[in-house]
Amino acid sequence: MSVQPLSRYQEAVPEYGRPLAEAPGLIRVVARNPGPMTYHGTNTWLIETSPGWVVVDPGPEDPDHQQAVLDACGGKIHTILVTHSHHDHEAGAQALARLADAPIYGGTHGQNPDALTLPGLSPVRTPGHTMDHVCIDIGDGRLLSGDHIMGWSTSVILRAPNGSMSAYLASLKDNQTRNYATLFSAHGPPVTEPAPFIASLLKSRLNRIARTRDALTSTPQPEPQLLAGLYRNLPRNLSRAAAEMLGSMLEYLEAQGEAVHTTEGWRRD
Ligand SMILES: [Zn+2]
Repeated sequence: MSVQPLSRYQEAVPEYGRPLAEAPGLIRVVARNPGPMTYHGTNTWLIETSPGWVVVDPGPEDPDHQQAVLDACGGKIHTILVTHSHHDHEAGAQALARLADAPIYGGTHGQNPDALTLPGLSPVRTPGHTMDHVCIDIGDGRLLSGDHIMGWSTSVILRAPNGSMSAYLASLKDNQTRNYATLFSAHGPPVTEPAPFIASLLKSRLNRIARTRDALTSTPQPEPQLLAGLYRNLPRNLSRAAAEMLGSMLEYLEAQGEAVHTTEGWRRD
């Protein structure tokens, strides 16, 4: 199976802290937090709406980044939105809220994003990567996709109670029906051909789940043993992510009646 579509959206290291015009009324400022889970860093998105600038994902707590975002908005921010309660997205939200005297929606400290009423902008619930994840539909076929769909890498789907593989697959299928033209994610460049990309995400995820199911035997195996068999030569800095992914796939298989969790580990049903 080709993995090509999954690694198609790469880019050179962007200039940190500099406003990048990505589309009409849509600016990206990249935070300086590169890493194995964040690619070159978190994309903070600035949306121009009639009441004012809306900032999506203020990024990690970094005074230089928050100042760069405020400056890019001409010193005035109407609303701050957080796609989900992960550090690299929301840790800077409260500092930015204080600087700009703006309300926060979403994430750990924000108001319920469903309560947000702004012209031309609507939150779309996309549980999976985390249960509180929302994407932001900004009209004209454009979606800010957070960590739900990213062009540079597949999303890590956390195990319960933080994430859910079945919710993730349902969210992806829901996205498919909405026929977006462009996805602007929280890490990496925009996904300009969402339909084949989402189809390839679903396919590769279902393949991984099938491989996990095939690794189960009638004798229970502890998770570390399954992990070692399924993910060979895993870099140490990705082992926690892989353990979460395996956990969410096993929970999915359990819900489908294809795996059983015992005190000695997981076996097939
Ligand atoms: Zn995340």
